[in-house]
Amino acid sequence: MKTKGFTFVVLGSGCFTASSTGPVRNPAGYALSRGDQTLLFDFGFGNLRQLARAQMSPDTVSHAFFSHRHPDHVGDLAALLFYYRYDGKPRRNKLQIYGPRGFKAFFQRLTKAHQPWLRPRGFKIEVTELEEKAVVRGDGWRVVCREVPHSTEALAFRYESKFGSVCYTGDTTYDPGIASFAQETDLFVVECTVADGSRTDGHLRVSEALELARLSKAKKTLLTHLSEESEKGLARRIAKLPRVYKAKDLLKINIGY
Ligand SMILES: [Zn+2]
Ligand SMILES: [Zn+2]
Repeated sequence: MKTKGFTFVVLGSGCFTASSTGPVRNPAGYALSRGDQTLLFDFGFGNLRQLARAQMSPDTVSHAFFSHRHPDHVGDLAALLFYYRYDGKPRRNKLQIYGPRGFKAFFQRLTKAHQPWLRPRGFKIEVTELEEKAVVRGDGWRVVCREVPHSTEALAFRYESKFGSVCYTGDTTYDPGIASFAQETDLFVVECTVADGSRTDGHLRVSEALELARLSKAKKTLLTHLSEESEKGLARRIAKLPRVYKAKDLLKINIGY
């Protein structure tokens, strides 16, 4: 059967915390798949196993987009490359890796620290740094970038194809321009780390995430990068918002079917 649309999979809906009192959520990771091709958006700790739990093969990953270098977003990049070297079916296709400014040097340091175990065998890795308005084109899709204000260089991504669109904020402080960037997407994946009234250093409070959802006019908004404090009362608060949902690990959303 020919696949019509694409599937967006939440691998990890959590952040850096590992509290045992709330739901245990894996750190940030998302997979977008169509046919036998998968694009990754972030790949924090544990996401190689989350791919397996989602019954997706790492061998289908062609492009990996990283919003920034914080470990809750890149933690399993080493695990993925180690898998390709030793455990995957021999990989032939080039792996394209993207990140913000500084990502190439980070990648070199990472592979050097693990030398030689992350070095690819039988395939090539290409690392590209992306800036504001950069566009990456693939087979029937494109990903547009927007720089967002975080505590380090960070990007938001907008995926577009004839089947639909997805915008992912990565980690960011409040900036209404992100709502324009996400305008009328089919799915808007918004970080939502901090409770209202709490101090924030580079993240969205709940009310700010909801404001971006409202301004974006996205068909569906998924609140993610959830923490124990941002989750308190969140389900009740969004119960009356018809297009806003809480992300959960291994949630699959079909778009364009
Ligand atoms: Zn994060
Ligand atoms: Zn971060």
